[in-house]
Amino acid sequence: MWIFKQVADLQLKISQWKAEGKTVGFVPTMGALHAGHVSLLQAAKTDIRVCSIFVNPTQFNDATDLEKYPRTPEADISLLLDSQSCDLLFMPPVEEVYPPNFIPKHFDFGPLAKVMEGAFRPGHFDGMAQVVNRLLDIVQPHELYMGQKDFQQVSIVAEVLFLLDSPIKLVVVPTLREADGLAMSSRNVRLNAEERAKAPIIYGQLTEAKKAMLLGEPIPSAMDKIKTALLAAGGFEPEYMTVVDGKTLQPLSQLHDSDYAVLCLATWLGKVRLIDNVVVKR
Ligand code: AMP
Repeated sequence: MWIFKQVADLQLKISQWKAEGKTVGFVPTMGALHAGHVSLLQAAKTDIRVCSIFVNPTQFNDATDLEKYPRTPEADISLLLDSQSCDLLFMPPVEEVYPPNFIPKHFDFGPLAKVMEGAFRPGHFDGMAQVVNRLLDIVQPHELYMGQKDFQQVSIVAEVLFLLDSPIKLVVVPTLREADGLAMSSRNVRLNAEERAKAPIIYGQLTEAKKAMLLGEPIPSAMDKIKTALLAAGGFEPEYMTVVDGKTLQPLSQLHDSDYAVLCLATWLGKVRLIDNVVVKR
């Protein structure tokens, strides 16, 4: 596995591969890698798999969250080597991604970015789109692999590619979960033992609510039940739970208003913010 910190080194290697006719798949991450990240690399059907690790400061609207974001570069490298899932790891310092002459591109996502994460984390998607756009410019992959876990992020990145008229193919990979259902996340390591034991309630509630709604339970009462269960368990501070149209991300008041419905949730558990989602119907 090649490991580069400089854009020029990465671009030289990738241009050599491309000259040999090889296709390049790209998995951008913020590190603290886990099996979910590896599953994205393993899903890549391209000849070459590139992974980046960059904790992007511009997408954090909370300074403490940025500071506390786990950083485990040695373990990340070991995981990529052990899993043999990556050909090139890019670990740039901030000034490589944002050089002094960098002019951020502004995208208008309209209603897509105004709901859910966009409503609770102002500026988050501007920063995320900026870094994805910059990393795509640097890596110039044929395919981009992203996780269903960050459902709204995938929609926004699809919109970025559309607005850029980009030929890059976006591939969405299912959420990898722990045996007890908890969605794998870099943030999970910040849960204490008690919180970690409670965390699977999130997915348990999402799947219960999905079943109930498919049997006719109205959306508002299914959402109320999730909230009640989280509050009863203690330690949770839910931010939102909502069923949205999978394309527009706008809230649905009834399941039959759309043929693609996704139940999305964000909650604090202690000092850790967790998100998850399930497709209710498609
Ligand atoms: P992050 O490092 O959290 O920014 O995530 C990098 C990429 O990995 C994003 O496309 C995430 O959606 C994806 N990802 C994170 N957790 C999981 C998971 N449990 N299963 C699949 N993909 C994931």
